[in-house]
Amino acid sequence: MSAHSVLTIRLVGGHPALDLLNTVDLDRPPKDQDVLRCFRDDTFWAVRVGLLSSSDREFLLDMGERSPSRARQAHVELLHAREALRLVVRAEVDGAAVNPVAAKDFEQAVAAALAHRRFSIFGSPPGWRWLADDIDAVQHRAILGAADLLADPARRPITVCAGTDCGWFFLDTSRSGKRRWCSDAGCGTASRVRRLRRKRAAES
Ligand SMILES: [Zn+2]
Repeated sequence: MSAHSVLTIRLVGGHPALDLLNTVDLDRPPKDQDVLRCFRDDTFWAVRVGLLSSSDREFLLDMGERSPSRARQAHVELLHAREALRLVVRAEVDGAAVNPVAAKDFEQAVAAALAHRRFSIFGSPPGWRWLADDIDAVQHRAILGAADLLADPARRPITVCAGTDCGWFFLDTSRSGKRRWCSDAGCGTASRVRRLRRKRAAES
């Protein structure tokens, strides 16, 4: 389903990596509607999907104010990584070979993300920590999450919504494994209405 802003976009992907792909409508006219329009948008979106805490966001926004050109670059690079991820996921959905340039870009983005994590024995429990002072935090967290998702042998296949002009991705976690719509109330209802209209037109 289409969305208007980073604050109102519906999160139906079932995973932040898929919600990231759904921030831009490539299949729904008018094309290229993107809710991630700037570095600030990226940080608000990341809080909504649970990749950043509110204090992480404040910290990032301060960094962005101090280095506006670097913040702009971080935004552009997030969109670039998103496109690489989209091509990787699309290939899985289509059962096709991954575009080699996208594969390389995605793997490089994962490597960059990994370089910003450290294992710390301190804390309860000990675990992986993100380095502070990372203006690319949104990209790094989203891309590493995407890599974990793709590598998860227990996950369901990634699905594309069957709605007309939709194209949103989601992880089907339904018991039946037959979810067809990004949202039953949106694309599901629209499809049922269209089918009913066609049926009535055929009967009249
Ligand atoms: Zn849909």
